[in-house]
Amino acid sequence: MFGYEFYVDPSRCIGCQSCVNACAECETHRGTPMIHVDYLDRANTIATVPFVCMHCDDPTCAKVCPADAIKKTEDGVVQSSLKPRCIACSNCVLACPFGIPKMMTELEQMMKCDMCYDRTSAGKRPMCATVCPSQALAFVPREQIERSRREKPTNVFQFGRQRVTTKVHMMVPPDENAVSVDVADYIWEAKP
Ligand code: SF4
Repeated sequence: MFGYEFYVDPSRCIGCQSCVNACAECETHRGTPMIHVDYLDRANTIATVPFVCMHCDDPTCAKVCPADAIKKTEDGVVQSSLKPRCIACSNCVLACPFGIPKMMTELEQMMKCDMCYDRTSAGKRPMCATVCPSQALAFVPREQIERSRREKPTNVFQFGRQRVTTKVHMMVPPDENAVSVDVADYIWEAKP
């Protein structure tokens, strides 16, 4: 859909797993869901977060692939590995800053969310966004998300000194401009 973009809002996720089940329906990845829902901080809250590929503008997974098996489409969607090329080394699995690619050991191939490219390239929404009841996963025009949400979208992520920009946007509090996901940010200095 021209002008439509993918937005993830973790604060809206209710952990219902509808997205996971809808993703598994997709034939392109043979019944295996490419999205997963995880707890944010299991010891302290029941809050959950959906994880999809963020489709980096300069994808680390593709850069570290020794077999040149991961391609990005002209419209910015990073694809699963090409089966004839993938040597199942797991470099991409280890390198992705968002922890998205999965090694399908039985297939000896890395697979991941491709934003339902068979659907989105034909003007349809990704499977997950069609079923998400709280629209934590939304595939809509930017004007719509800006008009209807208190949070604002960002596609800038800071991993320590590395700045990553992505095709997929995350909804953040209105006073934030980027998401910091570096573990060092959460380590505090010991008091003397
Ligand atoms: S597992 Fe496959 S896609 Fe990933 S880096 Fe290795 S060869 Fe490339």
